Amino acid sequence: MTTSTASPFGERRYNAWNDAVKIRYGGRVQKVSVDAGFTCPNRDGLVGTGGCTFCNNASFTPGYLNRRQSITEQLDAGLVFLRKRYPGTQHYLAYFQSYTNTYGEFERLRACYQEALAHPDMGGLAISTRPDCLPDVVLDYLAELAKAHTIELEIGVESCNDEALQRIHRGHDFACSVDAIQRAAARGLEVTAHLMLGLPGESHSSMLEGASLLSALPIKALKLHQLQLVRGTPLAREWQRDPSVVTLLDEQACISLIADFIERLSPQMLLQRVGSEVPPSQKLAPHWNLRLSELAPMISSELERRNSWQGARHLSQSLP
Ligand code: SF4
Repeated sequence: MTTSTASPFGERRYNAWNDAVKIRYGGRVQKVSVDAGFTCPNRDGLVGTGGCTFCNNASFTPGYLNRRQSITEQLDAGLVFLRKRYPGTQHYLAYFQSYTNTYGEFERLRACYQEALAHPDMGGLAISTRPDCLPDVVLDYLAELAKAHTIELEIGVESCNDEALQRIHRGHDFACSVDAIQRAAARGLEVTAHLMLGLPGESHSSMLEGASLLSALPIKALKLHQLQLVRGTPLAREWQRDPSVVTLLDEQACISLIADFIERLSPQMLLQRVGSEVPPSQKLAPHWNLRLSELAPMISSELERRNSWQGARHLSQSLP
């Protein structure tokens, strides 16, 4: 018989970001998405033109966003929506989410961040970006802002495996992510890394090795996503031509993989997400009979079934 008493993380069995922020801020923290009109170097030609093969920004952009509005207007509209959905929330961060939000002229970046921070309800910023778009001048400025505000830097690592990064036309390698994370953390910035599980070019063992590689880095939190094929993306078209190029995870395989991954992750790492959900109208595959809200409890149940938890199989290692 298994019990939850052995788990240092209680019934959830992993180090959940939601629990940590409730302790830190005394309540829920909600991110309010804004679209500042940035683009991405993997789309505008600097690095590439077709984008990462899995990407369609519309699949993770909230419906309330209107990029023709000012940042202040977008935050106001987002607050109206989120206050209805999550009544009682006291803490908000402006979330620069779409595309690459540190890619642009420095003065423009500064103006966007300052406008968001001037909103009376915003306690800080969450800024999503690529690791190859973090020059020292931007990191220095974010570190300065972090002295007075919450600044969460979300870096799209996506994979720790260079073969997978090449297969999805990411346009940077894992060493680039390591360098950006280390330079950000050296300035005291809190880094959240994004990782996509199940990319073409990955194997079960390469993804589990990723848990160890990320655990060796100064990362505060991790957002895990499972690969889903979004209509109109190059990867979806590749799969339609030849389904053997992508191995899609069914519900049980995904739960088992994420449990394996979490077992190998440092117990210090916060998990901000253990999966994601593309809107059904945009998703081509895989078809699951499981909603995102059901995924996290099922991962906890799987860890409980194993009498295991985050870090139970973690071996500290340094980067090669
Ligand atoms: S995932 Fe990010 S970096 Fe890749 S194409 Fe989309 S916006 Fe650009």
